[in-house]
Amino acid sequence: MTAETITAATSTPATTPPTTTAATAAVSPGLIDDPAAHRVLTGDRPTGPLHLGHYFGTLRNRVRLQDQGVELFVVVADYQVITDRDLADRLAEHTENLVLDYLAAGLDPERATIFAHSAVPALNQLLLPFLSLVSVAELSRNPTVKDEIAHSRQSAVSGLMFTYPVHQAADILFCKADLVPVGQDQLPHLEVARTVARRFNERYPHADGGAVFPHPQALLSDAPMLLGTDGGKMSKSRGNAIPLGATEDETARIIRGARTDADRRIGYDPVGRPEVAGLVLLAALCQDRAPEAVAEEIGDRGAAALKRTVTESVNEHLRPMRARRADLAADRGHLRQVLRDGAERANAVADATLTEVREVMGAI
Ligand code: ATP
Ligand code: MG
Repeated sequence: MTAETITAATSTPATTPPTTTAATAAVSPGLIDDPAAHRVLTGDRPTGPLHLGHYFGTLRNRVRLQDQGVELFVVVADYQVITDRDLADRLAEHTENLVLDYLAAGLDPERATIFAHSAVPALNQLLLPFLSLVSVAELSRNPTVKDEIAHSRQSAVSGLMFTYPVHQAADILFCKADLVPVGQDQLPHLEVARTVARRFNERYPHADGGAVFPHPQALLSDAPMLLGTDGGKMSKSRGNAIPLGATEDETARIIRGARTDADRRIGYDPVGRPEVAGLVLLAALCQDRAPEAVAEEIGDRGAAALKRTVTESVNEHLRPMRARRADLAADRGHLRQVLRDGAERANAVADATLTEVREVMGAI
C-alpha cells in the first residue's frame, strides 16, 4: 500500500489549513489497511511538559496507529534540546515526564519502542553521511529553522540548530520509518528526510539496485497547528501552552489569561480572528464537534463564556488521562525502565541499519 491511500476523513477543520505537499497526508488512522506494512517514527524534545497541541497534533494519532498494530518508535529527542539553548535544563526530569505523558495518553511500551536518541550511538552516526547529502543553502532556507532561530534563547545560531533537520532524518531513517505523525511545523523537516533518503538511495544502492531507505511521509492530524494562549503556535518553550498534566485549576487560570478580542459575538474565523478561533477549535476538538457549532452555541455571550466552555471541555476531556497520569507518576523507576528497554530495542535496529549503510558505502 502507498501512504497516499491514507487520506483524511475528518470533519473538524484546522485553525491553519495544512499545506498539502507530496510529503503530506492528513490521516485518519482508521483507514490504514495493512498495519504490518508500515513503521512509524515520531517524537518530541524533552523541553517541558507535553501540551494539547501535542495531543491533538500527533500524540492521539500515535496511539491510534499503535492500537491498529503499526510498529511505533517514539524518540525523546534530547540532543535537540541544545539546538536553541545553551544548557539542557532539567533534562532527566523532562524526559521522564514525557514518558509519563506518553503512557497516560495510551502508548504501550510493550508495543511501542520509546527511547532517547542520545542512548543510540549508531543512530547518531548516520548524521555524518547524511550531512554530506544536503547543501548549506538548503539548510538555511528551512522556514521552521528560521522560526526557531527567531525564538531561540541563544545569542548566536549554533551549527546544531542548522543541522537538526538532518539529525531528525537520522531519527526517522535509522528504523526505516515510512510514516511520521507530526504537526505542521515539521513539514519542512520531513522534506529534508525525504531528500536525504532519495539522495542516499541514488548514490548508494544495494548491489541488486535495491534501496536502503523508504521515503518517509508526514501524517497530519485534523489539528496540525494548535494555537497557544497568545495566538502563536502552542509550544512548550513559549509560555503559551496548556499542559496535559496541569490541574483543573491551573487549566482554568491559563485559559482565563488567553488573548481574545473585543467582539462579543463568537465565531470561527481562523484567518480574521485567530485567537478566538483557536479557543473555539480547542473546545470543538475536546467535544468532538465542529467548531462552527461550538461558536454558534456561545453566540454573543462573549469571551468570558467562551473561556468557561473551553475550560470545562478541556478538563472533562483530559480527566481520565490525568487520572492515569497520577497513578503512573508514583513509579518513576518504571518510567526509566521503559526508556532502558526502548534503548535496547532501538540500538539493535540502529546497529543493523548502520551496518547496511557502511556496506553500501563500501566501508570495511
Ligand atoms: P519546543 O517549544 O520546545 O520546540 P514544541 O511544543 O514545539 O516544543 P516539539 O517537541 O518541538 O514541541 O514537537 C513535538 C511534536 O509535536 C512535533 O511533531 C510537532 O509538530 C508537534 N507539535 C508541537 N506543537 C504543536 C502544535 N501547537 N500543534 C500541533 N502539533 C504540534
Ligand atoms: Mg518545537
